[in-house]
Order: sequence, then C-alpha cells, then structure tokens
Amino acid sequence: MQRPVGEAKPSDFEIAERELGEPGEGQLLVRNRFMSVDPYMRGRMSDAKSYAAPYELGKAMYGGAVGEVVEGGEPGLVVNGAGWREAALVGAAHVRRVDLPDGVSPSAALGALGMPGLTAWVGLTDIAPVAEGETVFVSAAAGAVGSVAGQLARARGCRVIGSAGAPEKVAYVRDVLGFDAAFDYHDGPVSQLLQPHAPVDVYFDNVGGEHLEAAIGAMADFGRVAACGAIASYNDTDPSPGPRNMFQVVTKRITIRGFIVMDHGDVAGEFYRTAGGWLAEGRLGYRETVVEGLDGAVDAFLDLHRGTNVGKMLVRL
Ligand code: NDP
Repeated sequence: MQRPVGEAKPSDFEIAERELGEPGEGQLLVRNRFMSVDPYMRGRMSDAKSYAAPYELGKAMYGGAVGEVVEGGEPGLVVNGAGWREAALVGAAHVRRVDLPDGVSPSAALGALGMPGLTAWVGLTDIAPVAEGETVFVSAAAGAVGSVAGQLARARGCRVIGSAGAPEKVAYVRDVLGFDAAFDYHDGPVSQLLQPHAPVDVYFDNVGGEHLEAAIGAMADFGRVAACGAIASYNDTDPSPGPRNMFQVVTKRITIRGFIVMDHGDVAGEFYRTAGGWLAEGRLGYRETVVEGLDGAVDAFLDLHRGTNVGKMLVRL
C-alpha cells in the first residue's frame, strides 16, 4: 500500500479486517449499505497541503456512506463520514439522519440528495447565482454534480448547455434531463463545440483545463464561473498549464470563484427540503452507477477518471 503517483493503481490499496468493538458513549454502530466514490478522494491520497487533511496510510479512507444504525441509538438510516467500510463506529453528533421520499433508495442521500446535489445548489445559488434567461454551461454534465447543476439552472429559467464524454451521456442530459443542448467533448476542440452556444453567462466548472479555457473564450461580459472542480488534472504529476486566455478575464470583467461545499452547511437544510420535494414529485432526474461490494471500490474509483459512470458512482455493501 502506498500513496499513488499519477493515476492510482489497485496495488496502492489494501482491504483489511478490523474488530470494531461495542459503541462507546455517544457512538453509534452503523452498518453501511452504500458508500460514496468521489473524485476528491484522489486529492486526499496525496500528502500535498490542501483544504482537507490527507488520508493516513494504513487507515480506512474517510468519505460519505449511508447505513443503518444497528446499536447505540435509534435505528434508522444515517449518512456518516466514515467512508470506505462495511461498518463503522461513528459519533452520534456527526451523522445526518435521512428521511427520504417514499420509494427513493438510500443511495440518493449520497448523490442527488446528498453532497453532490448540495454542491450544485451552492454553486448556482451562492457562488455564481443564475437568473432567468441566462445561458449556463455545465461540464461533466452527466455526472453526480453536473446533472443536478444543469437541472437546477433549467428550473431557474436558464438555457443550459452540457458537455460530457460519450454520446449516450450527451443523449441522457439532453433528452432525459432536459438540457437545451449538449456535446461530446471528444468531437473536437471544446472551444469550437461551445462557440455556437455563446455567449455564456455562467460556467459551472467540474473539469478545468481545456474546458475552462473554452468557457472563458465563450463568456459574455461580466460572466461568472463557479469553480467547483478540475478533474482533468487530478492525476497530473506536473502542474497543468492554466488557460491561455486569462486576459479575457480582464477585458470581459469575468468573476471566477472557487468553493468547497463543506463551507456551506448553512444552506444544506433548504437544499434538502427543496430537492427532496422535487424528487418526490419526479422533477429531479438522477442516475447512479452501482458497483457491488468493497472489492469493486478501487475499480469504481479508477472508473471516475475513465468516465465510465453515469451519475453518482457508488458501492453497494
Ligand atoms: P462525476 O460523477 O461527474 O464523475 C466524474 C466525471 O468526470 C466522469 O464521469 C467523467 O465524465 C468526467 N471526467 C473525468 N476525467 C475527465 C477529463 N479529463 N476531462 C473531462 N471530464 C472528465 O463526479 P462528481 O459529480 O462527484 O464531481 C464532479 C466534479 O466536482 C469533480 O471535479 C469534483 O472534484 C468536484 N466536486 C467539488 C466539490 C466542491 O466542494 N468544490 C464537491 C464535490 C465534487 P465524462 O464521461 O463526461 O468525461
């Protein structure tokens, strides 16, 4: 087991068994039903300084999971941060009790009705608020965050353009999720594929790199970028080059604002209420890519970078 350099390899990971013991004072024993597989995990595998502490070698990777309380407190479903484990002892004060609309799988609490959904909400509400009639461009549009971001912008009366890495994903975001237009970024330079949809008022950036440069090039004066992620560079071993057209940020008076969802817990309640209502009414579409068992977790993680997932990547335990 070791910290990956570049793209992670299965040999960087190990599955281990540990005795959990009984829950202590204020602790719950939770048996996880689904665990979350997220792009940010690549950053935490590195020991470079970042907004959150790196994973410790030899310890389970923390992250989102949803499971049943089996000891130590009221039974029920909880979202916890104990991450990649079948079961965990977690502080009762650090879990979120989940109350899902009828017929909705608990896994939704890790995706459309969880951290990724909230990320989309924060990006388009607080970071780059969108207004009716504006044009919004969303990258990684068929993914967990992007699919909610696009639908949210549509619900607010925007014209929404998505980019994704496969024809089926393009068809999904346009024909099922209701984006106004979408393209496969493998079909040519992103700048050319985006140009027919310009000017863009707001870019929800999940990808960085060529997508960000193209969005700056297509942006309207006073455009805004919600800088959410840069998955195109997460496996880079050398610093990736920045957009070559940064002077357009000046001439077009563009605002680029980065954010981390965990700084925005104050709006989570409003998001869960609103998005839960939309889900119950069938107004929020989402898909999940579900891999079975801990053994599949590493491949699931690697697949995020290959774009194999549609919607939220999850492991069922
Ligand atoms: P997704 O469900 O979108 O999965 C990742 C997707 O990224 C893949 O399916 C793939 O889709 C796309 N992708 C992978 N490599 C590339 C590449 N080189 N160029 C373009 N697209 C690529 O993941 P999430 O929705 O969980 O996360 C989306 C982004 O949001 C990530 O950058 C993540 O780090 C960020 N994020 C940020 C948060 C914050 O607080 N700021 C919180 C949560 C997520 P495709 O087939 O379309 O290429």
